[in-house]
Amino acid sequence: MLDAPCRNPYVLSAHFVRAVHRMTMPTKPILIAPAPELRKLCTPVDAVDERINRLMKDMLDTMYHADGIGLAAPQIGILERVIVLDVARRDEPSAPMCLANPEVLWASKDTSTHNEGCLSFPDLYADVTRPASVHVRYLDQDNQSREIEATDLLAVCLQHEIDHLNGVLFVDHLSKLKRDMILRKLKKGRKGAEAA
Ligand SMILES: [Zn+2]
Repeated sequence: MLDAPCRNPYVLSAHFVRAVHRMTMPTKPILIAPAPELRKLCTPVDAVDERINRLMKDMLDTMYHADGIGLAAPQIGILERVIVLDVARRDEPSAPMCLANPEVLWASKDTSTHNEGCLSFPDLYADVTRPASVHVRYLDQDNQSREIEATDLLAVCLQHEIDHLNGVLFVDHLSKLKRDMILRKLKKGRKGAEAA
């Protein structure tokens, strides 16, 4: 399923890669909701060139450093259609994926519910229901068009990150009641951080 890993210098466990990144890697600041950039429609990239490759690498470093499983360019303030993810379990080999201009070609009618979080909503989680599997087309690191069929956590993560490129956040999939609760907790958390 993970047919197009990024060129990966690590043949190491996902756990090790994350631990090393937390200690060493310089990273980009991650925008926290309600940053206005998180609500913007991102533009497609013309081609995956050197600049986009560098962006993908920066995003992977930032994602691992924050111990996330996915990151979209708008979360670091870049309004272009680029996402990275690595849904490998901690004991599995690290499996980074980098996608430009990803689009959902098909989504299953059957749905599944996962407890989702987001690096732009620190420490907040909620059950989100989405199509259980999706078919996604994208440009890989070599600017080649590829398609993948994804299920389980990969399907969840792809849909969550592609949403980001359209200014859609995981809280938008919740009832107003649940969304308001999360936004209140987010505000409270931020006040606590400012006071600290
Ligand atoms: Zn997110």
